[in-house]
This record gives sequence, structure tokens and C-alpha cells, in this order.
Amino acid sequence: MLGLMQDWPLLCHRIIEHAAEVHGTQEVVTRSVEGPIHRTNYRQIRDRALKVSQRLDRDGIKLGDRVATIAWNTWRHLEAWYGIMGIGAICHTVNPRLFPEQIAWIINHAEDRVVMTDLTFIPILEKIADKLPTVERYIVFTDKAHMPQTTLKNAVAYEDWIAEVDGNFKWKTFDENTAAAMCYTSGTTGDPKGVLYSHRSNVLHALMANNGDSLGANAADTMLPVVPLFHANSWGIAFSAPSMGTKLVFPGAKLDGASVYELLDTEKVTHTAGVPTVWLMLLNHMAANKLTLPHLRMVVCGGSAMPRSMIQSFLDLGVAVRHAWGMTEMSPIGTLAALKPPFAELKGEARLDILQTQGYPPFGVQMKITDDAGKDLPWDGKTFGRLKVSGPAVSKAYFRLDAEILDEDGYFDTGDVATIDAHGYMRITDRSKDVIKSGGEWISSIDLENLAVGHPAVAEAAVIGVYHPKWDERPLLIIQLKQGQSATREDILKFMDGKIAKWWMPDDVAFVDGIPHTATGKILKTALRDQFKAYSFPNAAA
Ligand code: ADP
Repeated sequence: MLGLMQDWPLLCHRIIEHAAEVHGTQEVVTRSVEGPIHRTNYRQIRDRALKVSQRLDRDGIKLGDRVATIAWNTWRHLEAWYGIMGIGAICHTVNPRLFPEQIAWIINHAEDRVVMTDLTFIPILEKIADKLPTVERYIVFTDKAHMPQTTLKNAVAYEDWIAEVDGNFKWKTFDENTAAAMCYTSGTTGDPKGVLYSHRSNVLHALMANNGDSLGANAADTMLPVVPLFHANSWGIAFSAPSMGTKLVFPGAKLDGASVYELLDTEKVTHTAGVPTVWLMLLNHMAANKLTLPHLRMVVCGGSAMPRSMIQSFLDLGVAVRHAWGMTEMSPIGTLAALKPPFAELKGEARLDILQTQGYPPFGVQMKITDDAGKDLPWDGKTFGRLKVSGPAVSKAYFRLDAEILDEDGYFDTGDVATIDAHGYMRITDRSKDVIKSGGEWISSIDLENLAVGHPAVAEAAVIGVYHPKWDERPLLIIQLKQGQSATREDILKFMDGKIAKWWMPDDVAFVDGIPHTATGKILKTALRDQFKAYSFPNAAA
């Protein structure tokens, strides 16, 4: 027997429609790419998103067609986002920090028909445009006054383009399993892979993000996603904030510590989300200028492990942290480290121990850890295994890639190595390709990095496994010092000594001027391995 409830497909544009109807005057504030602060609200965003839909429809963009955005977090990007999805076209967010050849590869693989972009990225696109045969036109997120001369095909200023329609248009309806958006993984190994979200998966993911123990924001709060819309839907915030009526503050092109601080302060932001490198810049700026943020209540941090010292710095400022783990293939939320009973009562180091885990999954994400043969491992907080996940917002295949990516129980292998404790708190110990295999035992590069970065002179730390004749691999610690600070190999090792097992201690420390990062802000270990290809440990001859 079937239930007698309404057929109400979970479509993304229902979210912005709800925001416009119920939270219509709630503000969306942007530091515009042109410079000034721009203010709008959810009702106007919905009205203009409908114009985007109508205008795309007039250009012959149909259900399933791909429309790319290569753009910062701004109100226009959000309008375009809902406008594209509102006619069943697919909003393909492209990460502008990728190499131009990768951008071209991705646009060609997706066969994008239209590219919407910011002024910032016109030069990059002009260089690759002749390699993009599927793109019929470029729409620049600006107005006539700021529109530059460009060689981009059929280029038009967004404001002129939407002014050609009246907005008298209805969202289209279709099956909730229709593709809504796509995002390619950065492809640090091999070609990028296209993750294809559905309307249903995005809506369900928004509900997961709305859980108080997830992003933790409500209608009375203000959220500033530093994490870009092109980084897995800005961790779902582009859907979850409008669905709750949370005020949004977009940082546009300026993500440095001073600019982010200014917006957090002037807009009285209560919640913000971003990768650790962004928070490092913010904390440095605040410390150097003795600043505080009395309105800020929660910093969501993910994408890479959040160092313990960073958690402590925010707590010292009176700001709660929520360490999160996820990935593009998971829409992206996997776990969040909220403090549930009995841990909420913990104090000091014991509290930090829990806050530093990657947390537990919201309803809608199932996890397991297995050995290499696929056998389930215990949730004892000690046993490491391959972390596998399933859920309605987890990928089951990649776009146009004929490969089975699920195990026989339907779980996706995240490529991460983790422990899970009896309460469901998960701790990532490594990427499976980065874990250091020393004499048959595993050493967590992340644990070593987190510890080293706690040394007051260290700006950033990376650990890679380097060949060792006796142990197969041993950890090499690579350090970038804070500007104007100094520390020796011995200082760093002494700082770490006693805080980890003896056999985990790095065999050597190398100092570099800069640690390379991927397009999503993670340490680029492949580049470091390359850089230290010829390195051999002083003790390797023994
Ligand atoms: P990419 O940057 O390659 O496009 P994602 O942004 O999807 O891919 O990155 C997902 C990966 O990032 C995870 O599988 C994990 O290795 C790493 N990651 C994300 N959050 C955390 C975290 N809080 N701690 C440690 N690693 C993390």
C-alpha cells in the first residue's frame, strides 16, 4: 500500500521560492567584484533568478544542458545558480584556481553551452576560448558601465542580458532525480572527475546542513561562506542558507584576512565557513591588530584537518568551532564535530580532543571502515581503516566515466583512512595515498602536521613519506616558518618529542619558503614529493 501524501518533487528552485515568500526581506550582502558593498534580499534574488531562467529558455537552453559558472561568491552568482537549475539545466561550477588547461578540459568534458563569469576571469577565458568549441556565449557578471572590451564570443554584461526579459516566467517542473549541478574534483591524481548532483540530493543535503549540530545557523543568524560556490556548493550553504532564511554575506573576490575580517565585523556575522588557510590569514590579521569579533559565534572549518592550535585560537576569542569533513562526492557534508552528551561537559584538553576529530555524520550519511579486503573494522577509536560512505547525497558514479565506484553494499570509498569511536566520532588519519608506511605500520601524516603547526614559529607544516632502506618509508617534516620567526630542526623535534609515539617522530625536518596548495586549498603533496624526489635521510646510509 502506498502512502497518501502529495507528490512534491524536491526541486532546488523550491528553496529560493520559499526564501522569497517567507524570508523575502532577509538580506544578501556582497562585496562586489567591482568594489562597493551591494545589498539585496531573497525576494529580489528569486525575481532575478526567474529572469535568468526566462532568458536562458529564450536562448534555447534546455533540460540537461550544461551552463558553467566561473565566479566568486556574489548575489549575481546565486541568482544565476537558481536560474540555471530552475529550467532543469545543469549549473556547472568551475574552479577558477585550476590551471587553464584543466579548466578547458573540464568545460569540454561537460560540453558547457554557456559560460557565466566575473570580470576577474575574462583574461584566463580569453586565452583558452579557442579551445572551447561547445561554448556559444559568455555572460559577464557585471553591468554595462563596467563591461570591458573582450574577444569572448557573444559576450554580454549580465545586467543587460537579463534586462531583455520581464521575469514573467514559471519555474519548470520535472522529476526530482533530474541533474541540477555538477562540480569536478580537482584531479590532483589523474583527470578531474565530474560529480553530478540531482535536485533531490541537493534538497536533502540542505536539510542535513540545517540540522543544529551541522552548520548551526538559523533564520536569526548571518552566514558568511568564505568557501566558494565552486567548492561543492559552498558546502551546501547556497541551498541551506536560503532554505532557512539565514542572512548571507558574500566576500566576492577578496578572501584575505583584512577583507574577511571587515565583512565579519561590519555585517555582524554569526556563522562563517571556510578552509584552514583562510582562518590562518584571518587569525594572523586579528592577532597583529589586536582585534575581536564579538558577534561571531561559530567557525565551520573543513577541507583539510583543522589544527588543534587553530581551534584553541578561536576558543580564546570566544568563538565556537565546528570541524567538518566531507568531499565533493558527498555534496559535500560527511561529518561535523558537534559536542553531544556526555562530551559537552568536557573541559580543557579533553574537550579539544573531541573538537579536533572530524566529528559524526548527520542523519543521511552512513559510514564504515574496512580493511583492504573490504572486511568491516570495529568502531573502537583505534583501528584505522578505509573510510566508506553511503547516502542520498553521495555519488554512485562519475559523469561520463564508465567505472564502478561502489562496493557490493553500495558504499563509496572516500580514499581517506580513519578511525571511528563507539560514539560515531570519526578521525581522519590520512589520505590513503599519503599515509606513511614505516616497517609495515602506518604513521598518520595529518597527526604529525597538526602537532608541528602548534610550534609558535611554524606557519604551515607538511609531512611526506620518503624512502628509507630499513623501514621502507619514514616521515619527512617540511616546515614553512612564520615571517620574521626562526626555529631549528632540533627546536621543532624537541617541541614534538613526548607528544607522539617515538617511532612516529620525523627522521628529518626541511625548511621551505612556501608550501604548495591545490585549487581547493589543500597541501599539494604530489608537488612536495616531486620537490623532495632526490632527498635522502641523513640516517638512511646506516
Ligand atoms: P578536491 O579538493 O580534491 O576537489 P574535495 O574538496 O572533495 O576534493 O576533498 C575531499 C578530501 O579532503 C577528503 O576526502 C579528505 O581527504 C580531505 N578533507 C576534507 N575535510 C577534511 C578534514 N576536516 N580533515 C582532514 N581531511 C579533510
